[in-house]
Amino acid sequence: MLFNELVRVFDELSKTSKRIEMANILSAFFKKLPCDELGFIVLLCMGKIFPHNSEKEMGIANNLMAEAIALASGSTKETVKKQWNIYGDIGETAKKFMKSKKQSSLVNEELSINELKNVLQKIPGTSGKGSSAIKLKLVSKLLSMTTPLGAMYLTRILIGSMRTGVGQGVVRDALAKSFNAEPSNIETAYNLCADYSKVAKNLCENPELIKNPKISIFNPINMMLFLKADSIGKAFERVGKPARIEIKYDGLRAQVHKDGEKIMIFTRNLDSITAQFPDAVSAIKKSVNATKIIFECEIVGFSPGMNKPLPFQYLSKRIKRKYDIEKSAKEIPVKLFCFDLLLLESKEYLNEKFIDRHEALKKSINENEAVMLAKGITTSNESDAEKLFNEGIKEQEGVMFKSLIANYKAGSRVGYGVKLKTHMKELDLVITEAFFGKGRRKDWFGSYTLSCINLDNEEFLTIGKLGTGFSDEQLKEMNELVKKAIIKEESDKVILKPKIVVEVEYEEIQKSPTYKSGYALRFPRLLRIRHDKTPKEASDLEMIKELKG
Ligand code: ATP
Repeated sequence: MLFNELVRVFDELSKTSKRIEMANILSAFFKKLPCDELGFIVLLCMGKIFPHNSEKEMGIANNLMAEAIALASGSTKETVKKQWNIYGDIGETAKKFMKSKKQSSLVNEELSINELKNVLQKIPGTSGKGSSAIKLKLVSKLLSMTTPLGAMYLTRILIGSMRTGVGQGVVRDALAKSFNAEPSNIETAYNLCADYSKVAKNLCENPELIKNPKISIFNPINMMLFLKADSIGKAFERVGKPARIEIKYDGLRAQVHKDGEKIMIFTRNLDSITAQFPDAVSAIKKSVNATKIIFECEIVGFSPGMNKPLPFQYLSKRIKRKYDIEKSAKEIPVKLFCFDLLLLESKEYLNEKFIDRHEALKKSINENEAVMLAKGITTSNESDAEKLFNEGIKEQEGVMFKSLIANYKAGSRVGYGVKLKTHMKELDLVITEAFFGKGRRKDWFGSYTLSCINLDNEEFLTIGKLGTGFSDEQLKEMNELVKKAIIKEESDKVILKPKIVVEVEYEEIQKSPTYKSGYALRFPRLLRIRHDKTPKEASDLEMIKELKG
């Protein structure tokens, strides 16, 4: 398959914003593809090069992209950047520059999908001295091997700003149509491996298997999430009586995969943090008596020697650490509070009741100081629940109420469990713009536009402006993150790729014509930067409508 054929499909997609039409265009195209090419093409259609659970990143900065366009088109970086500022879109800029270059149309038609894949896969492997020069060569080579229109889409994919509107929902529906499968089965298969390229390939090779997708160890599973409740009564109403009530620890949600001596730990984003937590790995080895197991726990940081839990911010330093890992393990030792089971030896537990998952988990762990079950009770009694809630808000974040009979629904925020916390007025929002400071601070971003997500079309909608609540350290970190996400610079602000998620508290939600969401937050304050959340997991418009009431 030639890249140009895919470019024609991208172009067709760009002419509609209707999800059904997009799914129809893609399903007709997917049907024609060989199984071994389908997976990668599915990712490209979503504007991705690697699956969601991959640790690989292109790492192509705007500067390098402009230089590559200049090199491929025989122009200068400065001229490309100037034009980019005018168009506000790197794709259009690349198209214009490649058009103005005289080139043989024969060469333009030749880039195959396999060749593109080979070159793209070399890029994340290049690091250290001279890596920018290698990346530059590879990217400019690709640009000159395709048509101006191809260059437009390629640059957008490379800097992670595709904008065809094809999200996971459209791909799921297109695959379902192509292979005559149920969308819900495809979604379940995706939630068990978080990789649409794998789901598409498997579906193409054997459509029957999708009816009964299997967990595979060391392939992280999209985690089940919980709803909020605002009183003990409402929490019981949601999950039924009796319920299991557990302390909600203020730490890092982790999914542990163990097979024999091999152990891996994944975050909610499905990133592996195994290397950063060697102490947790050895604690698991000592305490878990099962050979093969997948379970979930909260990793909590403690102050050394004092047995006092530390707020999540301290632990988050360990997640980012690449060096001096042993040292930081001593500075912020951790404990694991286990609360759910997904697989034990050869048995999958997703479709088992929580009460049975919990019982089997209990038998698989020899509790000790570092690894234990989350503290909890099983009760129908509201005053017992209140006692635990008071304990939960004193030392940790609150409590979780869990239905005893519900199964584990991977990748969904369902009411099989609810959380009851102290600060109920919190949202997870995405930073989509950053404003330059004034006077001496003009190179410094001090305030930010917050956006929620509209899950119908995966669009980010503004909802407020954030400028308070930052510690010096958080402000410095935000500035570093913002610089890596800039798409476009304007006179007073920069437009950002939706990448940075923050947890904010606020006083009230009001209706407002100022912001695209139709709502505005009164007095938003930063609580923390959520490295463990993807923009798609941000608070969605429906939830905000509901909170506003
Ligand atoms: P939050 O921002 O409130 O931590 P979240 O959006 O990360 O929530 P939710 O599923 O809404 O995720 O809330 C549950 C979270 O609480 C889990 O992701 C997990 O990290 C944490 N947690 C702490 N203790 C427990 C527990 N005993 N059982 C389940 N989850 C727990």
